[in-house]
Amino acid sequence: MISRIDLRGPLPRDLRDVLPRADLDVEAALEKVRPICEDVRHRGAAAVRELTARFDGVDLPTARVPAEALAAALAGLDPQVRAALEEAIRRTRLVHRDQRRADVTTTVVPGGTVTERWIPVERVGLYAPGGLAVYPSSVIMNVVPAQEAGVSSMAVASPPQADGLPHPAILAACALLGVDEVYAVGGAQAIAMFAYGTADCPPVAMVTGPGNIWVAAAKRLLKGRIGIDAEAGPTEIAVLADATADPVHVAADLISQAEHDPLAAAVLVTDSEDLAEAVEKELAAQITATRHAERISAALTGRQSGIVLVSSIDDGLRVVDAYAAEHLEIQTADAAAVAARVRNAGAVFVGAFAPVSLGDYLAGSNHVLPTGGCACHSSGLSVQTFLRGVHVIDYTRPALAEAARLVCALADAEDLPGHGAAIRARFDWEIPAS
Ligand code: NAD
Repeated sequence: MISRIDLRGPLPRDLRDVLPRADLDVEAALEKVRPICEDVRHRGAAAVRELTARFDGVDLPTARVPAEALAAALAGLDPQVRAALEEAIRRTRLVHRDQRRADVTTTVVPGGTVTERWIPVERVGLYAPGGLAVYPSSVIMNVVPAQEAGVSSMAVASPPQADGLPHPAILAACALLGVDEVYAVGGAQAIAMFAYGTADCPPVAMVTGPGNIWVAAAKRLLKGRIGIDAEAGPTEIAVLADATADPVHVAADLISQAEHDPLAAAVLVTDSEDLAEAVEKELAAQITATRHAERISAALTGRQSGIVLVSSIDDGLRVVDAYAAEHLEIQTADAAAVAARVRNAGAVFVGAFAPVSLGDYLAGSNHVLPTGGCACHSSGLSVQTFLRGVHVIDYTRPALAEAARLVCALADAEDLPGHGAAIRARFDWEIPAS
């Protein structure tokens, strides 16, 4: 069953050494995806076609999904699922619209201003996974922030199913969002197609979206040629809970994320041994009733999952900060106060009625979040991901004059006399060179 780590007593100096985490060797996967990316770079659409046949088992003369397929998927969408997707889009848009930053102009000296202009990336490629599970919700989480940022050209890629098309729910989500450029390509070859462009698909400047280890490795490999978001790999949930938490809820929430992937991580951090035992019992009882019992058991018994016992909620906070989970639930007395002290997490879910499942679909928040501990330095997907802050510098002659001697002094100190000369030329060389 799920392993236990007893950290009652003084906490080790580097908690990360003792906390459960997947052995996800993206570096090793790099060597596997390098030839895939090189092949797409040199042979374009022909390589994409062969790789799709090899990894997804379908032969597609063109990767581009025809407009009729998008329309048909929307027409065939279950009305209840359509209503849920529409409400998810509405809520996600509400939150992301509020993230937009205004340009800011700072008057540094009279006549000298710097404006920070937020300019959207022109063309982006958005990846929606479609291997073990299908994620129309990930289409929403990628597309809405890009649209709200003002990105003018966007394409979605998702692996083909047996019929040669991405899952109909993915296509329907694209249609609902008004995205008509969709490709039936998955894995590393999709990221390479976006980065290098093919006869079917013009290249993009940035690729975002979650995916498996091959997708993550391709993004890491091609970073620089393209911009990428944080690596969003196999999903993770950490729950910080005390004796007041309901073990039925805690177990259900751990299972809900373990359901994504055998490599998904589910970690309970608690100062209550009674809760730990009750959650273990609940896990055993609830797993038997789940559809994906095998995948869930693999995730919960894997080295990436566990129950961590701590002496206090203060120590628990140190543990979850060191772990930097993609999703962190706080199920303690006064959960809001505990949540306010969290430093490292992709997203924080406060109290008994904000489970991660809500955030996966309908909270309004984004579910493309950093995994593998990256939450200590990176954020989830947002409008900001798709914007570049460009400084616009506008100085008059008197404003430049005020700084001229200082610029020349620093240019001399850095032994870059040409820099000083560019200033002095504007003042008839009146400023002495040193
Ligand atoms: P996926 O779309 O990421 O990958 C499927 C593709 O992988 C296939 O199309 C195939 O081309 C390629 N592939 C399969 N085996 C391969 C091999 N041996 N070599 C090279 N390429 C191969 O779908 P998935 O596999 O279901 O993974 C989705 C992942 O995304 C899960 O781990 C899930 O937890 C994660 N996820 C994360 C977030 C997040 O925000 N962190 C959100 C949703 C999903």
